[in-house]
Amino acid sequence: MVNRFPVQDRFADGAQYIGGRLRAGTSGRRHAVVDPATGEKVYEYELASTADVDAAVAAAREAFPGWAATTPGERSDAMHRFAAVLAEQADDFAYVESLQCGKPIKLSTEFDVPGSVDNTAFFAGAARHLEGKSAGEYSGDHTSYVRREPIGVVGSIAPWNYPLQMAAWKVLPAIAAGNTIVLKPAEITPLTSIMFAQAAKEAGIPDGVVNIVTGAGKDVGEHLVGHPDVVMTSFTGSTAVGKRVAEIATSTVKRLHLELGGKAPFVVFDDADLEAAVHGAVAGSLINTGQDCTAATRAYVQRPLYDAFVAGVAELMDGVRLGDPFDPSTDLGPLISHAQRDRVAGFVERARAYARVVAGGEAPGGDLAKGAYYRPTLVADAPQDSEIVQAEIFGPVLVVLPFDTDEEGIALANDTPYGLAASAWTRDVFRANRATREIKAGCVWVNDHIPIISEMPHGGYKASGFGKDMSAYSFEEYTQVKHVMYDNTAVARKDWHRTIFGDR
Ligand code: NAD
Repeated sequence: MVNRFPVQDRFADGAQYIGGRLRAGTSGRRHAVVDPATGEKVYEYELASTADVDAAVAAAREAFPGWAATTPGERSDAMHRFAAVLAEQADDFAYVESLQCGKPIKLSTEFDVPGSVDNTAFFAGAARHLEGKSAGEYSGDHTSYVRREPIGVVGSIAPWNYPLQMAAWKVLPAIAAGNTIVLKPAEITPLTSIMFAQAAKEAGIPDGVVNIVTGAGKDVGEHLVGHPDVVMTSFTGSTAVGKRVAEIATSTVKRLHLELGGKAPFVVFDDADLEAAVHGAVAGSLINTGQDCTAATRAYVQRPLYDAFVAGVAELMDGVRLGDPFDPSTDLGPLISHAQRDRVAGFVERARAYARVVAGGEAPGGDLAKGAYYRPTLVADAPQDSEIVQAEIFGPVLVVLPFDTDEEGIALANDTPYGLAASAWTRDVFRANRATREIKAGCVWVNDHIPIISEMPHGGYKASGFGKDMSAYSFEEYTQVKHVMYDNTAVARKDWHRTIFGDR
């Protein structure tokens, strides 16, 4: 049962969460959150101004010394309570996430929300495992050790495709390590990020540790990245915007973590379990209506299985149920907006000139016509260098191409600028091992495509960015290491002083 409630009332005070308080933005510009399944406005608010960013950074800066001084055990306790509050509010989170994104309620309920609760519980534990290398007498005359320290105020920017999970991925490692944070969610999907910050407060995490500013990328986003009191930028979004963010962060000498676009290959060798590969390709390409940076987008199928794979995927795609996101039987919701739907449709229309649209390739009519829906689409026989094979589409579109030798399949998989995720489908351990070794991506699945887990790192190679979300590896981004070195000789004239004083 979905517990619906009036969202305008729930966030009546505004969409800026600064210093533990919800307030209105001060930009003078209004913005609407629209349900993409109906095209109806569900919430309207005032966007943040750069002054709101300054206020949020000031709140985070003020909270930093106190939060950084807590023990790992204290942060861990607070984050365990945080996970419990999120779990108690799971139904509300699922409702709002589905409303603002058009996600099928079964996806919000079974993936987005429990994934975020589990992430929180993971980082509650991980907070107690921050460590440096062992202390030792590396020079003979000194004892050295490494302190792992928080870095200060983190500025994070997130996309609209998984707003709650992206807030979790950004906020949790940052605060577990003792930092404070200002997060800018996408302006079209701010609501669950705000709820996430409010849940942190309910759990006893001090005001100012987690702040949310909801404003436009160009002014508020860039102001946050360039802010002199922000020591690190963590950005998840498109590669194009990531390049701009990198320019600003670099010119202000900030630590930088970039999680960018993807174009994941799905490589099926001729000994693969065909039924598993066909199911994996349909689920892996359609998850979140294909608006997933790791979604399967390019299937390369070895020639003997090619025709059967194409037929099997087309048949399964045709059976996927589009519908009201709040109907528990709905498999596929709308895209995030009508503009995104039209962008996706544009890729497919242009591809008709050089490829074959085997399934889908259109928006549905009838009751769904008012929403941003697009049918699951399979495009076959496009050239490797064509737009539909090379560019990130971010919609329910899978492209399929044949290959002959194993070497060729792996080379094609590596032949885009991206390197976020990939999968290899085979029952041969040597082929699997070769594919996992040679495919350039931050994650390679074998005989599956999509699962993520809190304990394991997520992050890109190549134009998909650098740095890791989730797992203990994310602490490399959110902490800095300090070498501390003690003299053990207690003599005034050290051996190495000869370089200055000679034999005098
Ligand atoms: P986007 O790059 O358009 O926007 C991402 C965020 O950046 C938004 O909050 C936006 O307001 C902000 N922004 C826009 N212009 C900015 C600027 N000039 N300066 C600072 N901030 C700015 O991306 P999107 O359309 O929201 O999301 C889809 C993209 O995100 C896809 O490319 C997808 O692959 C990527 N993504 C990557 C990962 C990952 O883990 N690698 C995860 C999810 C999404």
